[in-house]
Amino acid sequence: MLRVDDLSYTYRHDDRSETYHYDLSVAAGEVVGILGESGSGKSTLLDLLSGFLTPDAGMILLDGTPLSTLPPEQRPVSILFQSHNLFEHLNATQNVLLGLHGKTHGTPEETSRAKDILASMHLETYADTPVSRLSGGQQQRVALARVLLRDRPILLLDEPFTGLDPSTRAEMLHLVRELTTQHRLHTVMVTHEQADCDAIAGRVYRMSEGKLNLA
Ligand code: ADP
Ligand code: MG
Repeated sequence: MLRVDDLSYTYRHDDRSETYHYDLSVAAGEVVGILGESGSGKSTLLDLLSGFLTPDAGMILLDGTPLSTLPPEQRPVSILFQSHNLFEHLNATQNVLLGLHGKTHGTPEETSRAKDILASMHLETYADTPVSRLSGGQQQRVALARVLLRDRPILLLDEPFTGLDPSTRAEMLHLVRELTTQHRLHTVMVTHEQADCDAIAGRVYRMSEGKLNLA
């Protein structure tokens, strides 16, 4: 179980400050949806979970172990953004391998696992293709393949399907649902589309007035 307990973060501006509060739980194998207006504090939650921001108060626990003190690279977390997940000039296999140690090459075993995962996502013919030549949906599948090779128990999605056509979007949502179940991931999906939540989220929270509430 991933637990976010009374977590808060304050942005301090010259003339004012704004504080965001978060309480939520995500079970292994569960997709939790986070809805909210633009600027309501959704990405801030993901930055706190991934360690790019340090909370002012509260706890993040995975199966009882605090994560808040770990630097980003040591957190058991993978993130998928709306774009800029990949290095365009590198091929699909290299992009997937980057998820392991931040290097474009791996041991023969790692390379073969990367290719197997790409094949499981029907990307085998693109293993050696620069990702700049792939479609938006294919690129997001490469990014998901990297998540799988990393094999971290927490998956954070920040509106990753915005800009994809409806059928690709549906396919990606289905893939996230499947991967979450198969790998027992704790998946937090930020979206501004209620329909995304209806499609795959077990529970839905809404960010409103600086607080996260069960919708
Ligand atoms: P969302 O992802 O829901 O659109 P964010 O979590 O990115 O919202 O941002 C919430 C609010 O936090 C923004 O409206 C802005 O006021 C503030 N904020 C976000 N990032 C920064 C930053 N780097 N510096 C100052 N304020 C920020
Ligand atoms: Mg955002």
